[in-house]
Amino acid sequence: MPYGFTFDLRDLPRSMFQELLRLAYDLKLHRRMSHAARYLVKKFKVQEITGLNILEAISLFEDLLEIQALNILNQDRFTASSGRKALLLPHCARKYMDSRCRAVFDPSTPTYKCMGCSSDCLINRATVIAREKGYDVYVLPGGSCISRILASGRYDAVVGVACGAELKLGYEILRKMNIPGQAVPLLKNGCAETYFDIEELERLL
Ligand code: SF4
Repeated sequence: MPYGFTFDLRDLPRSMFQELLRLAYDLKLHRRMSHAARYLVKKFKVQEITGLNILEAISLFEDLLEIQALNILNQDRFTASSGRKALLLPHCARKYMDSRCRAVFDPSTPTYKCMGCSSDCLINRATVIAREKGYDVYVLPGGSCISRILASGRYDAVVGVACGAELKLGYEILRKMNIPGQAVPLLKNGCAETYFDIEELERLL
């Protein structure tokens, strides 16, 4: 797990994420990132609501700001891309992490393919939406699979869901391969039962 702590941001107001997006626009990339993260953490009482300490909260929000800034910087190229697209999802967001999950593991990638056993599984919902929009969907056991998936050269654009730290690593891989991407950060991390905003994902796809 990239972070040395767990977090759950689901109780924070949606307005905070809207303001985070606005700040990311203003900041562009690294300029005043730390200052803006501090401002958000204080204004929205992130410590009190989430139980994170101040350093954890600031590092997390610096990553969220950077992801939003990278999304903005990549948006035009991503939208203009008319080729094949891939959606990369984290396996920790599956409803089940044991044999009740009917996903098929493909060791060649290596990734899971969701078989849709549970209609309320986040991975299933995201997979259905993405496939309808023409995406190939991969459920990743870890970030190291990204390079192998993209090495096939099949994809012109990528959408990824992961924690902020992993998304930054993913964006670095995309930058080296000159592939535009968009990212949706996890709102709850951990080794299981992680959570992301499916509406935000649907809007990006
Ligand atoms: S819906 Fe897909 S990812 Fe979710 S538990 Fe079932 S097979 Fe696994």
